[in-house]
Amino acid sequence: MSAVMNKNEQQVQQWRDDFPILARQVHGKPLVYFDSAATAQRPRQVLAAMDDFYQNHNANVHRGVHSISGEATDLFEAARRKLATHINAASEREVIFTRGSTEAINLVAQAYLRPLLQAGDEILISHMEHHSNIVPWQLLREQTGAVLKVIPVTDQGELDTQALPGLINARTKMLGLVHVSNALGSINPVREVCALARQHGVTTIIDGAQALPHLQVDVQALGCDFYSLSGHKMYGPTGIGALYGREQLLEDMPPWQGGGEMIRTVSFEETVWNDLPAKFEAGTPNIAGAIGLGAAVDYLQGIGLDAIAAHEQDLLSHASAALQQIDGLRIIGQARNKVSVISFVIDGVHPHDLGTIVDHHGFAIRTGHHCTMPLIKRFGLPATARASLALYNTRNEIDRFIPALKQACDMLR
Ligand SMILES: *Cc1c(COP(=O)(O)O)cnc(C)c1O
Repeated sequence: MSAVMNKNEQQVQQWRDDFPILARQVHGKPLVYFDSAATAQRPRQVLAAMDDFYQNHNANVHRGVHSISGEATDLFEAARRKLATHINAASEREVIFTRGSTEAINLVAQAYLRPLLQAGDEILISHMEHHSNIVPWQLLREQTGAVLKVIPVTDQGELDTQALPGLINARTKMLGLVHVSNALGSINPVREVCALARQHGVTTIIDGAQALPHLQVDVQALGCDFYSLSGHKMYGPTGIGALYGREQLLEDMPPWQGGGEMIRTVSFEETVWNDLPAKFEAGTPNIAGAIGLGAAVDYLQGIGLDAIAAHEQDLLSHASAALQQIDGLRIIGQARNKVSVISFVIDGVHPHDLGTIVDHHGFAIRTGHHCTMPLIKRFGLPATARASLALYNTRNEIDRFIPALKQACDMLR
């Protein structure tokens, strides 16, 4: 690293210092973590919040009259309020803690949509969905005889919005769309799509797992009915995420899972559900996870999503240009509006072999289908390599990646 750092580099170095794992080595080389779209790293602020909970306030929530149960409940509910404010939900009752995006989408499929569906009703999703926004609807198709329709994706990796109006009709009951593609980085025009859906009375669910780490999300401005997010993609813990839902929809829905926490009274004859959001949170929740997610929200807000986006856009253009130095390299996903996720293939080189070799230089990249098999197949490929860049990555890391890639190509071709 050069002795003199400019202001921007100093700032990024400060952010990097928050992430203890970035100090470690892999195969004797400094770790370069280019796999944040699979799971981001956690800053010490998040680790400290979880540690503090377990060390000083651990108790079950919403139950005990004793002091530390009250403290645990306060911390847990404060995390919910932070998240609700962060995404501009109208109220914290609209934020349901789940295990992640996957569970949030399954909740909507089973508790919201299933009771409303009749055979022949249609569910519309896009060709760039993560498996977690495909398979829950396929399960529902088997259970109800509903029909799954798919909005195409252009060769550039953008949603084919021209095709959209022709795919919505009176039988369309749900539209599911990824906000930001984890495989291509494309940012979808969610506001416009939700507006069109609303005109047709179609309920919308946006998979926001990949948006929260890069963008300031405002669910009311987007105009969606449901929105899912994942803690571990946004510098928070694994095993925690959330479903945002408009209050009226959540009120009208039956519960999903039954158990403790989600009830007000239980008798063998009749059980009365609890109010929102507890109605959808059966069992002891991931309390430490929620608190860690709240700390991740604080962390993102402390830096500011504008500052993060500016840095990541600089990395994206730097990396996109630098990668052109590799013979036969093709970037898959050239959306005009994209985040710092770069999928690529190289002629004559299998992504898996590439990933293995660059790992020996300390680079953690993803190879495979990225849980988007239909999308990768749409581009006529079995797999891609993917470098996903986060707030703690640097131009210098990208500059070191290029020779590692060249060396791998020399070995493999
Ligand atoms: C990671 C991811 C998911 C799944 O989220 P989990 O929290 O791991 O369940 C869904 N959609 C997208 C776009 C993702 O990147």
